[in-house]
Amino acid sequence: MKPEKKARSGVPSHPLETASQEKARTGNIPSVAQNRLKLHDPKSENVKKFLALLKQRMNRPLAASMVACVHCGMCTDACHYALAKPDDPTMTPVWKADQIRRIFKRHLDWTGRIFPWWVHATSPVDEEDLNRLKNIVFGTCSACRRCTLNCPMGVDTAALIRFTRGLLAELGIVPEGVFNVSRDQWETGNQMAVTEEDYLETLQWMRDEVRAELDDPTVQIPIDKPDCDFMYTINPREIKFDPRSIAHAAKIFHLAGEKWTLPSWGWDQTNFGLFSGDDNLGAYVARNAYEAAERLRAKRIVISECGHGYRSTRWEGYNWADYDQKLPTESVVATLMRYIKEGRIKVDPSRNPEPVTFHDSCNIARSGDLTEEPRWVIRRVSSDFREMYPNRTENFCCTGGSGLLSMAEYRPLRLEVAGIKAEQLKATGAKLVCTLCHNCVDGLSDVIKHYKLDMKVVQVLELVSNALII
Ligand code: SF4
Ligand code: SF4
Repeated sequence: MKPEKKARSGVPSHPLETASQEKARTGNIPSVAQNRLKLHDPKSENVKKFLALLKQRMNRPLAASMVACVHCGMCTDACHYALAKPDDPTMTPVWKADQIRRIFKRHLDWTGRIFPWWVHATSPVDEEDLNRLKNIVFGTCSACRRCTLNCPMGVDTAALIRFTRGLLAELGIVPEGVFNVSRDQWETGNQMAVTEEDYLETLQWMRDEVRAELDDPTVQIPIDKPDCDFMYTINPREIKFDPRSIAHAAKIFHLAGEKWTLPSWGWDQTNFGLFSGDDNLGAYVARNAYEAAERLRAKRIVISECGHGYRSTRWEGYNWADYDQKLPTESVVATLMRYIKEGRIKVDPSRNPEPVTFHDSCNIARSGDLTEEPRWVIRRVSSDFREMYPNRTENFCCTGGSGLLSMAEYRPLRLEVAGIKAEQLKATGAKLVCTLCHNCVDGLSDVIKHYKLDMKVVQVLELVSNALII
């Protein structure tokens, strides 16, 4: 006689349940699905936290990018990693995004919860898995968003990469360089740990340089001056490694008769939160700049030459900081364009006779929609402008984006895949490559050195400063 089925643990049995299914359900014999679950049992606290954060931070745009991919592979040709290493499928954007997508499917998508083997759903189990993920999202993607713009389904692979970086950053599983720069920006308000003393001394030094150059003792680099037409924000690299760019700006602003100021706090427009995926850091840094402008009653914020600083301060910071930022915010190239158009400065293109090309920074062109202003200015201050192909929103990354310059462990791969960029630069025949980004200056300089190109990197402020008719 068939034994009567018993419900265990309060779960009633199904009338059609077989004996083996019942055993599996009641825990006597694990089913295939249970075996898989066990295989994915988190073995470390970090994995548990990672999965909890994944659920907590998921939002609709991210979920859309998780589920919309049809694996057509069209993004492959957009990625400089994949193009440079065509035999390595792990370099394709879709493979990189799939590493987080598979985890999403296992834990948040019904298909992966019911049929994990069918949709290749998986889950990290231990620290090794999280480290492997770290090396993918930090080491094999410059978050340039070229694949994003070339996806017919609108999948934002770079957003998935940043999201994953943010989950790992919360756990401290990041490359050492990312950790150090983030800590510096949290602790000092700027990502290069420039002290207030160094900051003020460098500004004074540059003021004296411009005074000597123009033979004009009235030149000022004002600090914390209220009610100005704009508050200028800079990249700490300008203080630390390239103070001439501050001098160029100060000289131009002086000749244009501008009423401007730098703040003593809140001057760093760069934002490592964009790179590390840490929205809290992003909010803190952006808020510093917005509040400084409000405190000084500035009429607008002008951002010096920096790609990710422009994207963070102009486009993303309001959201991270949940800040009602009403002030107009512009790149310094828009300011320069206005000066030339209004006749506030006079320029002579013959002062920059060498052939010059322009490198569109990913965060300014692709993610910032600023492509024509730099060309307009460069064409007026140089006499031999040569376009680079592809350009504007289709340009290739300088290869040092997304904080990769601070991650020494990924440098060999970064330079290996930079062959595409080197070819692109070489084909222009230009002797100068101009860029509107301090990060790109370092990225491009590395490429030029590694591939032994006969070129030099310059910036827009430098070209304008050279071309000034005084
Ligand atoms: S991300 Fe877009 S382009 Fe790439 S495989 Fe998926 S659907 Fe295709
Ligand atoms: S964001 Fe750029 S580097 Fe990253 S996968 Fe896409 S194309 Fe490649």
